[in-house]
Amino acid sequence: MAGEPQADCLFCKIVAGEVPATVVRDTETTLAFRDINPQAPTHVLVIPKAHHPDAASLAAADPAAAADVLREAGEVAAQEKLPVAGGGPGTGYRIVFNTGAGAGQTVFHAHAHVLGGRGLEWPPG
Ligand code: C5P
Repeated sequence: MAGEPQADCLFCKIVAGEVPATVVRDTETTLAFRDINPQAPTHVLVIPKAHHPDAASLAAADPAAAADVLREAGEVAAQEKLPVAGGGPGTGYRIVFNTGAGAGQTVFHAHAHVLGGRGLEWPPG
């Protein structure tokens, strides 16, 4: 059923405390933790505690939880003191939802990557 923990899901195991993670924020509906393979000086994942396979599925099933993930992504950026103003390299941050294996999704539990602290190119790779 949508939202139920999945026994074979790594991020459900992190939510359950069965797999360790460096948690930076914890709310009733979301968890934010440092990516184990950081791609930028700040690289934090924000996940809904409920299991949904990707961001669009999350938004369709539980719009409030999807909003919580986005709001927490902004809170992570503020907590990490990622500067937004100025416009130069290293300012601003990126919120990424890889969706589908072809786009680089490897964990099929919705998660936002919050990336910042260095220049971010466009288009992304
Ligand atoms: O978007 P994608 O599904 O590829 O992102 C999954 C992310 O989860 C990867 O960036 C990977 O480094 C991270 N990860 C993690 N902790 C784990 C396993 C994977 O932070 N135990």
